[in-house]
Amino acid sequence: MRRKIVAGNWKMNGSEDLVRNLVNDVSNGMASLENCVEVVIIPPALYVRDVLSLVGQREAAVATGVQNVAPWDAGAYTGEISAAMAADVGCRYALVGHSERRQLFGETDELVAEKVRKVLASGLAVIVCVGETLAEREQGVAERVVARQVRAALAEVESADWPKVIVAYEPVWAIGTGKTATAADAQAMHQAIRKELSGLGAPESDVSVLYGGSVKPDNAAELFAQPDIDGGLIGGASLIADDFLGICQAAR
Ligand code: PGA
Repeated sequence: MRRKIVAGNWKMNGSEDLVRNLVNDVSNGMASLENCVEVVIIPPALYVRDVLSLVGQREAAVATGVQNVAPWDAGAYTGEISAAMAADVGCRYALVGHSERRQLFGETDELVAEKVRKVLASGLAVIVCVGETLAEREQGVAERVVARQVRAALAEVESADWPKVIVAYEPVWAIGTGKTATAADAQAMHQAIRKELSGLGAPESDVSVLYGGSVKPDNAAELFAQPDIDGGLIGGASLIADDFLGICQAAR
């Protein structure tokens, strides 16, 4: 059985107050999910320990992650944090290759692959983001682009590590825009991603594939009802407790 996962990527948003209120509200809403969904909060790195200290007392029903890691282990890399550090403080997940990292920070497929290696070596689970731009979709090359991203990021994964790999399909044109892929288009891409994963040797039951891009409580149920969609990576709506919990409910 593939795991149902809903992860909230806060991006560069938050404050001590927001962390306290949002994390408490989400933790309090967890009981209604009856452990059917793995919920992950991915705050800016500065707030990771605050989130951990709020969720920790509850046997960490909510997991915590980082939005990015360095492709190095340690050393003279001012401003960077390593996957090992995220694991050391108690994170369970790291996001890698988000389209904002690819587009605004020039992350290439090769760099994403290196980061995936570091995350898996540190023992964390990796959420690898892939997705086509609007231009690529209009040119009819969306599946080819996404397949290339999946192969590049995951070609070197060792068989024992597949249960720690999660793929998030996020069409770039759907992120923060209010536009989502139709459930049918998303399902078609998820199916294509699964084919690619199985070509890389990933056992079908090990890898959850999440959808991301303007997921809201009112469109989540239809998306998550698709056979190859195992949950979501949520940006804007993860900053509002009721919305985020509503989306988690839809993944049950
Ligand atoms: P959005 O962001 O839900 O605000 O579209 C999704 C993401 O970038 O992970």
